[in-house]
Amino acid sequence: MSAYMNQHPIAQVSATATADAPLACSTGNKEQIRVENLCKTFRGAAKAVVSDLSFTLHAGEILALLGPSGCGKTTTLRMIAGFETPDSGRIFLHGQDVTHLPPQSRRIGIVFQDYALFPHMSVLENVCFGMRLIAKRERPGKAQKWLKLMELEGLESRHPHELSGGQQQRVALARTLAAEPDLVLLDEPFSNLDAALRESTRKEMRRLFKETGTTVILVTHDQAEALSFADKVGVMSSGMLCQLNTPEGIYTSPDSAFVAEFLGHTNLLEVDIRDQQADSPLGTINITTSDTGRQWVSLRPEYLELTPDPLAEGRVTSREFRGHDFFYHVELKGQEYKVLAPFDCALELGTPVAIRVAQPAVVLKN
Ligand code: ATP
Repeated sequence: MSAYMNQHPIAQVSATATADAPLACSTGNKEQIRVENLCKTFRGAAKAVVSDLSFTLHAGEILALLGPSGCGKTTTLRMIAGFETPDSGRIFLHGQDVTHLPPQSRRIGIVFQDYALFPHMSVLENVCFGMRLIAKRERPGKAQKWLKLMELEGLESRHPHELSGGQQQRVALARTLAAEPDLVLLDEPFSNLDAALRESTRKEMRRLFKETGTTVILVTHDQAEALSFADKVGVMSSGMLCQLNTPEGIYTSPDSAFVAEFLGHTNLLEVDIRDQQADSPLGTINITTSDTGRQWVSLRPEYLELTPDPLAEGRVTSREFRGHDFFYHVELKGQEYKVLAPFDCALELGTPVAIRVAQPAVVLKN
């Protein structure tokens, strides 16, 4: 929804103090941005678009805000950038309250879905444009540094229409980083690229951000992108941040059925838990936590194993060959289960199979 973000791509100016905070993750321990209880309801709307949203990000960390269309990701980004004013809640950059500062008074750079390059300017001019706070004579030299880092050397005099999508993307990023922002916001920046370019550009951009110690917030609805690109993933639904954790943490320990299903496939089972075990149609399953009583649990398809067995009750009802694996649906006692099997486990439709649970199930809190 970057149409809403279609303001000037580079906001500049000052930021001050730093503060330590408890959510240190990967690369830094200085608080870069803290968002506290942000709320926003658009005029005339019945429901809040962003509701009580809080998180902290440290220097050099990459956060992906992930969620379905319309859940409030772009509005959150726009409030951080200063293009939208929250109804309540606060935004701190380096510990300084910037909630009511205009965009140009926050050191924030933005890369848009459509890159927003100036078509009449060359690559070099586009990159220099971002450096309004840097002395004019220093700009071309600094721009060259960024162009080299982005592997754009030799393309300085070209115009945007003479570049590939990936090259335009890198020019947009060079222009943003050349302004030396404290925080970079990316709104679906890879969505205009084809699958192969998307993956390589994503990888390259992550490397560049890590190399330059840049703090980044990425908005996306692509779970694979969020998991592979970010240090932390926040899953949003209806304006709320449902869960925030590392990619591995959120994938392996989702708090809710929504998060479990949004981040990939899963099997949801309601079971009675005692002593970290539960009886289920798949036999006795182990549970990761010490929760007890009737609970919903999640079992990822890769936690299940299939064995062909003429005496077994399970039946393969669908199969999808995906190159490196097979994705099966298996019907057992009136229930359907999703199972991920290795590429050499080829089973015909209707094959009788036993399902073994190879990993403990995760209890869903809500
Ligand atoms: P997408 O993934 O489709 O880009 P999103 O999660 O980024 O979606 P937002 O762009 O934040 O969602 O929009 C959230 C909701 O707020 C949507 O229902 C949208 O129509 C509405 N909305 C966004 N901006 C405005 C506005 N300026 N005025 C009124 N409603 C708005």
